[in-house]
Amino acid sequence: MGRSVVTGGAGFLGSHLCERLLDDGDEVLCLDNFLTGTPANVDHLLERQGFRLIKADVTDFIHVAGPVDNVLHFASPASPIDYLQLPIETLKVGSIGTLHALGLAKEKNARFLLASTSETYGDPKVHPQPETYWGHVNPVGPRGVYDEAKRFAEATTMAYRRYHDVDTAIVRIFNTHGPRMRPNDGRAIPNFIKQALRNEPITVAGDGSQTRSIQYVDDLVEGVVRLLRSGHAGPMNIGNPHEVSMLDLATQIRELCESASEIVFIPRPEDDPTIRQPDISLADEVLGWEPKVDLHEGLRHTIAYFRAHPEVLEL
Ligand code: UDP
Repeated sequence: MGRSVVTGGAGFLGSHLCERLLDDGDEVLCLDNFLTGTPANVDHLLERQGFRLIKADVTDFIHVAGPVDNVLHFASPASPIDYLQLPIETLKVGSIGTLHALGLAKEKNARFLLASTSETYGDPKVHPQPETYWGHVNPVGPRGVYDEAKRFAEATTMAYRRYHDVDTAIVRIFNTHGPRMRPNDGRAIPNFIKQALRNEPITVAGDGSQTRSIQYVDDLVEGVVRLLRSGHAGPMNIGNPHEVSMLDLATQIRELCESASEIVFIPRPEDDPTIRQPDISLADEVLGWEPKVDLHEGLRHTIAYFRAHPEVLEL
């Protein structure tokens, strides 16, 4: 099989992707600067044949000896709390980091896959969002650092495809959860689970009517790998169209955790998108992909991971 470089390979999604590529028989070079990822996420892979973990900041440069078949660019702070605290790093990895990752793919004649995001749609005016929708993003708002970095990354990817003939793909990833999410990354699911397991108040932003469509990490990885192995350029949405309000999500997590937490309402963050739902007809048509894990089943796995790591609850 092939030799794959995964930037951000020690992050939440990157670590699952590395594992899957190894399972498929690929050699995997995992690059990470451990800014928001951690070596602990890939500890269990270190013994596996064909896996190498390399501490590297892809905004400095990327050098890889020998042939490379695939470059998967997953490095970036990705939760709102992270990119609000690391705005310059987020912009750099989406711009300079993407240029470096594309340069590597060009040099090695490799297929390049960009981890983009539903955030490119911003606070969408079209619902659900097809890939043809150009989005509604505030470039000067606090979330602009992530949204615009990823939009720049998409434009750069297409430029390398058009002008350098690099074989590229763009996946737009919708909200994803699963084991190895950081309990303190500030996102709704880790927050709600942590709060429910501690019987502390569950903090719902605004009136909780804003929606997200949440997929389990195994479905995401399956979609990404199918896109990688296809010749398709994307952009392609990979997400679970099942849409829930944040109040509904909080209530379901409280029930699944058998928690006595009360639900409290906190201010909505600035530019917080009101609705989010992928149109996945392209992934279905091209890859025969659709999500398999429903919300309850997925949440049970994520909750079990949090329960099994009591130390993560101390954070
Ligand atoms: N949210 C919430 N309580 C929290 C954290 C987040 O109600 O403790 C809300 C947040 O305002 C947003 C939704 O949950 O409307 C999803 O936020 P998250 O940070 O998980 O992801 P993103 O905004 O990137 O989709």
